[in-house]
Amino acid sequence: MSIAVEALFTTALGLQAPWVVAKVDLDTAKRRIDFEVSCDAGKLPCPACGVNGQGIHDRVKRSWRHLDFFQFEAWLHAEVPRVDCSACGKTTQAEVPWARPGSGFTLLFEALALSLCQTLPAAQAAAQLRVRSKRLWRRIAHYVGIARRRDAMTGVRAVGIDETSLKATSNNWLS
Ligand SMILES: [Zn+2]
Repeated sequence: MSIAVEALFTTALGLQAPWVVAKVDLDTAKRRIDFEVSCDAGKLPCPACGVNGQGIHDRVKRSWRHLDFFQFEAWLHAEVPRVDCSACGKTTQAEVPWARPGSGFTLLFEALALSLCQTLPAAQAAAQLRVRSKRLWRRIAHYVGIARRRDAMTGVRAVGIDETSLKATSNNWLS
């Protein structure tokens, strides 16, 4: 695709320097759109200690499922730099602004998934999102853990206080 299209998607995805969309691959038969995102910085701050201007050791290929663009299933792919730090001596993978470390979903996809899980049983939400429900459960567990740690139970929809109520809610969630 042309440079203009890549620039347009860089903006549409809310990416900021040093991250840019380098390639857009639209497959109408598979109803899928793939974005190659690249980091064009030669030096980065160390993710571990924060010291600026550290060299890049190598890059790790990663992929994230993103929100659909109309009927197209959208994926982001990037070779994420691992920063070699001369200050703390650690080699640390840079964080990407669109996803939590270790997640295979973008933050926007996770937000949609969690919103759906507040109104649908997780299995139905997973079917709508075309993901395995096991992957959704991992997210729910992660965010429920955060909500509990903050002691703000806003992210928790149902809590079983005893075995009977736990059984009733998990039946509802697993149905
Ligand atoms: Zn460091």
